[in-house]
Amino acid sequence: MSQIKDHPSGFAPPTGDMSAEEFRRYGHEVVDWISDYLSHPEAYPVLAQVEPGQLRSQLPASPPERGEPMGEILADVDRLVVPALTHWNHPSFFAYFATSASAPGILGELLSAAFDAKAMLWRTSPASTELEEVVLDWLRQMMGLPRGFEGIIYDTASVASMHAIAAARESLNLRIREDGMSGRPDLPLLRLYASEQSHSSIEKALIALGHGQRSLVKVPTDSEFRMDASALARLIEEDRRRGALPFCVVATVGTTSTTSVDPVPAVADICERENLWLHVDAAYAGSAAIVPELRPAFEGCERADSFVTNPHKWLFTPFDLSALYCRRLDMLRRAFTLTPEYLRTPEQDAVRNGSDYGVQLGRRFRALKLWMIIRYFGHEGLAARLSEHCRLAGDFAALVQESSDWELLAPAPFSVVCFRARPRVEGEAEEERSRRLDALNERLMNAVNATGEVFISHTKLNGVFTLRLAVGNIRTTEEHVRRAWQLFNEKLAEFSGGD
Ligand SMILES: *Cc1c(COP(=O)(O)O)cnc(C)c1O
Repeated sequence: MSQIKDHPSGFAPPTGDMSAEEFRRYGHEVVDWISDYLSHPEAYPVLAQVEPGQLRSQLPASPPERGEPMGEILADVDRLVVPALTHWNHPSFFAYFATSASAPGILGELLSAAFDAKAMLWRTSPASTELEEVVLDWLRQMMGLPRGFEGIIYDTASVASMHAIAAARESLNLRIREDGMSGRPDLPLLRLYASEQSHSSIEKALIALGHGQRSLVKVPTDSEFRMDASALARLIEEDRRRGALPFCVVATVGTTSTTSVDPVPAVADICERENLWLHVDAAYAGSAAIVPELRPAFEGCERADSFVTNPHKWLFTPFDLSALYCRRLDMLRRAFTLTPEYLRTPEQDAVRNGSDYGVQLGRRFRALKLWMIIRYFGHEGLAARLSEHCRLAGDFAALVQESSDWELLAPAPFSVVCFRARPRVEGEAEEERSRRLDALNERLMNAVNATGEVFISHTKLNGVFTLRLAVGNIRTTEEHVRRAWQLFNEKLAEFSGGD
């Protein structure tokens, strides 16, 4: 009160939100802008052509004292923010996993921002809670996972896997929830097994859950980057002999570097025999299970205890939305439920309260966008798009294979191709050749990315610098993939001629 009195006479601090009229006007403007953007993302360089610090140096260091007109703010988005964006929606984005937002998903995200639901309890957003249950069950059916799997939405696969591992640990009945692990001589070393190609999020989950990196056993892979199941069995046996306690195996369907598929049926046999929790990380490839001809890659997943897939990776869902499926959701609940008095509700035993299943209290209304996407495209429409992505990647892989200047470095079971240029030089020693090809391919990648026309990324396979082309954008067509191939060959010719 005293603050208000202190203001010079005639000034009343503003209250309330933007007027409805103004919101409508700028709302239309923004939707028009987005509509133009999505119809020509190629107007921008796909990889932001800015230097570190460039945007920061153009922004005021301190916040405005008084509000500014919306028109000016939006003009600055255009002028300052857009040039500093790497355009994930660009159809020639082939880096990492090419993920993109679809229009129905963007509309869902807009509505969910407007509803601003904090879906921690059923009653704080019955719609969010129940739509989540329904839409995740739709997705389960589309992927062909059995009925016993119940789904829950998290932001990312990293967080979903961390929760799955916490559930696996809870199922051991070691009172870790109550007593923790520090200062407990009664606890053996807990061990989790994942292939050396598994995602770094598994290791991070073990760090976050207090197990440390020491608890991760990296299982070797075969010549096609798949977990060696007999090595897994041997490593478990060795651990048991030394008095460690194996508790979980993470199998990956669609590894991050090459999209290789671990032998899940053999891993599931071992888990059954050894009584270990089997978590399947299918963050990228899980979406492919909705495509009938790709379903065989998921054999054995029906026997997992938990399974994660990211609709935000390859199901055209704006970031973020990760779906965790669990056969024993009660373990997740047992690990995390904690209800203070002010969150008790009369219906709590009859409904699902999202906050019981993880670290977060408030939860975003993410199910809405996925519901809108599945309804808009339909199972058939989504499957056709994924199938087309695999065809495009297959086409690219064929071009690589047919050319003596290029080679494939891994099988391409989905929509990612690992390859490199390998032009020959007569009489070159092996070591010299590896060094030359690593340098050449890195240079090719940087040159192609510098054009702003195409963006790809790389990985290392057996120490070899590997180019990686990932198809996954809803707007990518054959023309974009062919152009990428042409660009690679132009740059290769340029570098070979110049050397
Ligand atoms: C991308 C990826 C992740 C991590 O996904 P986030 O949702 O970004 O945490 C985990 N596992 C695999 C196999 C991935 O490809």
